[in-house]
Amino acid sequence: MTNETNYGFDTLQIHAGARPDPATGARQTPIYQTTAYVFRDADHAAALFNLQEVGFIYSRLTNPTVAVLQERIATLEGGVGAVCCSSGHAAQIMALFPLMGPGKNIIASTRLYGGTVTQFSHTIKRFGWSCTFVDFDDLDAVKAAINDDTRAIFGEAIANPGGYIMDVRAIADIADEAGIPLIVDNTTATPFLCRPIDLGATLVVHSTTKYLTGNGTVTGGCVVDSGKFDWSANDKFPSLSQPEPAYHGLKFHETFGNLAYTFHGIAIGLRDLGMTMNPQAAHYTLMGTETLSLRMERHVENAEKIAAWLEKDERVDFVTYAGLKSSPYFERVAKVCPRGAGGLFTFAVKGGYDACVKLVNALEIFSHVANLGDTRSLIIHSASTTHRQLSAEQQEAAGAGPGVVRVSIGTEDADDLIADLDQALSKAAS
Ligand SMILES: *Cc1c(COP(=O)(O)O)cnc(C)c1O
Repeated sequence: MTNETNYGFDTLQIHAGARPDPATGARQTPIYQTTAYVFRDADHAAALFNLQEVGFIYSRLTNPTVAVLQERIATLEGGVGAVCCSSGHAAQIMALFPLMGPGKNIIASTRLYGGTVTQFSHTIKRFGWSCTFVDFDDLDAVKAAINDDTRAIFGEAIANPGGYIMDVRAIADIADEAGIPLIVDNTTATPFLCRPIDLGATLVVHSTTKYLTGNGTVTGGCVVDSGKFDWSANDKFPSLSQPEPAYHGLKFHETFGNLAYTFHGIAIGLRDLGMTMNPQAAHYTLMGTETLSLRMERHVENAEKIAAWLEKDERVDFVTYAGLKSSPYFERVAKVCPRGAGGLFTFAVKGGYDACVKLVNALEIFSHVANLGDTRSLIIHSASTTHRQLSAEQQEAAGAGPGVVRVSIGTEDADDLIADLDQALSKAAS
């Protein structure tokens, strides 16, 4: 498609990156189920390997089906390029890899997906990296946590398990002042609800496993680059600004300009870390992106109705949905995610741990699973599952106390979902 900048979101989510297949005219993007691509001749092969020409070599690095998805997500996020990978957690490592080195650190919000807290608290230490967790509502604390070895700030636009909205613009200003990139995990908001790059973010990461695919079929991740960061402004990012020994001294930023980070992600990141998305997964996620705005509108509409209903119910203690006027984050929704606060929230059931377990067991439409962003409504009782290993204090801090359940509201009939919650709450109270 040409002139993409003039089209609206609904058009771009279907067409961006895709064109009729040049070989067959196939209208839907074919699944290029191939590992390798025949070189025209030896000179062509050499040019590709030297990064002098862009093309397909081997599917660990690039694949035409995956390339369409990369261009589509980059377009929807307002970025210049994107690299897809095998999962959301892979995307986080891929995003940090060009920025980090032994002894370097990141600053991250205390309110993050549980798996990300684990990855940043423990696993990255094996690379010699570290993370300082800070309350992102305390801007002075965020500033104070930055030191000479800090290489990025990381937060979620709408934080899992729901209710907390990050003031992306305010945190981006702090990152700018420190000369480091802001990375926003936009998984739970999606580019339909929030565009972090418009609010000053440098990089956006996704678990495409969730809303972008939309129906719980494949895992995947994506790193989107805004193309706006000057990697050569200081000496903090040698992987992008200094000669790369594995490419005969090529300097990525000097050679590829605003596409430096994306090229590095493919030429070094995927080549050497190998966290590649396969073309089948890209196909499912491309199908998902075509209906993203339609689904997100319904997710939000249903979540608003159900959160409002739960808030008034006597069997419920509280609901943490930023779309409710009672939420401390209600005002921020208009600034950060004007089309709605998403489909994910938590609520506390009177009767604590035992009532939550009964509720989860009694639900018929909601599925008890460790996932979110599915067309199906999902529920999880964190204290007895994902946060089971934590102390009571840690559970409370994570918003996963014993009396709290997390829901990911699907696109079913809201009335059916409310009826299901109603009957299950009765059983939980008995
Ligand atoms: C699920 C999730 C991840 C991790 O993604 P995977 O695809 O499961 O690896 C990261 N961030 C958020 C907000 C998530 O919901």
